[in-house]
Amino acid sequence: MTVAALIDVRRLGFRYTDGPPALTDITFRVEPGETVAILGPSGAGKSTLLLHINGLLPSRLPTEHSDEATITVGDLPLTSANLNAVREKVGLLFQNPDDQLFCPTVARDVAFGPLNLGLSPEMVTARVERALAEVGLESFADRDTMRLSMGERKRACLAGLLACHPDCLVLDEPFSNLDPRGRQQIASIVRRFSGTTLLATHDLDLVGDLCDRVLVLDSGILCADGETRTILSNQSLMEKHGLSVPTCRDPATMNTEKPSASSPNVTYNSDSGSEDRLPILDHNLPDDPAVPLSRPPDGAPA
Ligand code: ADP
Repeated sequence: MTVAALIDVRRLGFRYTDGPPALTDITFRVEPGETVAILGPSGAGKSTLLLHINGLLPSRLPTEHSDEATITVGDLPLTSANLNAVREKVGLLFQNPDDQLFCPTVARDVAFGPLNLGLSPEMVTARVERALAEVGLESFADRDTMRLSMGERKRACLAGLLACHPDCLVLDEPFSNLDPRGRQQIASIVRRFSGTTLLATHDLDLVGDLCDRVLVLDSGILCADGETRTILSNQSLMEKHGLSVPTCRDPATMNTEKPSASSPNVTYNSDSGSEDRLPILDHNLPDDPAVPLSRPPDGAPA
């Protein structure tokens, strides 16, 4: 029996009101338990894609009766009616923690999500304590969120997500602006998370350590999708998309301990319009070519 994908994105297109397409015809699936990296140069569309997955973009969502539903999380199509339920499944970490933290103390910030889930005060307290322990901030409950280091702020944000018991973490540049210890602290949290993780990053060494699979996005187009070691060791592919091959890792040792949930067979797509034959998972090919290609181009919020 085929296990349902946790995240299923089909033929997603998006354009901000004042620019060229930020995403064009993006189709991919993420299986339960997978850890998948999205790589690509700045401006490739990584953040835009992640914002779609928990419904922050576009401002106009498809309705129950529309055939435009291009994102499914678990068994829920991302529609206006399902928005809150999808957000309970997907915990989104913003690139800048200052966009995420807004309560005066760490404990109150972490409690915000569980309180919104309608949990009892006792349950909220238990979840906050556990989440703070999971990110190594047990003694930070009463600290001012605005007086934390960047690493502490990122971990406080992650505690807020974990306290809601999400099925999926969607992380936008979780390792940026951190020193080596801070990067490893975040990596350790990602490694211990038993759900599904989708993360955008430029940190190729940590991608090699953590991720089963890599998607390469460039100019809003999904250019490659394959096993981590296959993608990261493909020098011409990486350089073509503004990336470099990690220098301090032997690709043969990359993330070999954790089996991929999907154990994908890599096939090659010669229809990409590129001179390269880029690895694309066969299950990513759209089942129904009649599905509309793009969302309306003017759907972006101000
Ligand atoms: P990445 O995360 O890969 O750096 P983004 O998703 O941030 O890429 O950006 C993709 C494209 O969309 C870029 O051309 C960027 O300039 C544009 N863009 C991003 N956010 C906005 C916005 N709020 N309004 C208009 N254009 C935007």
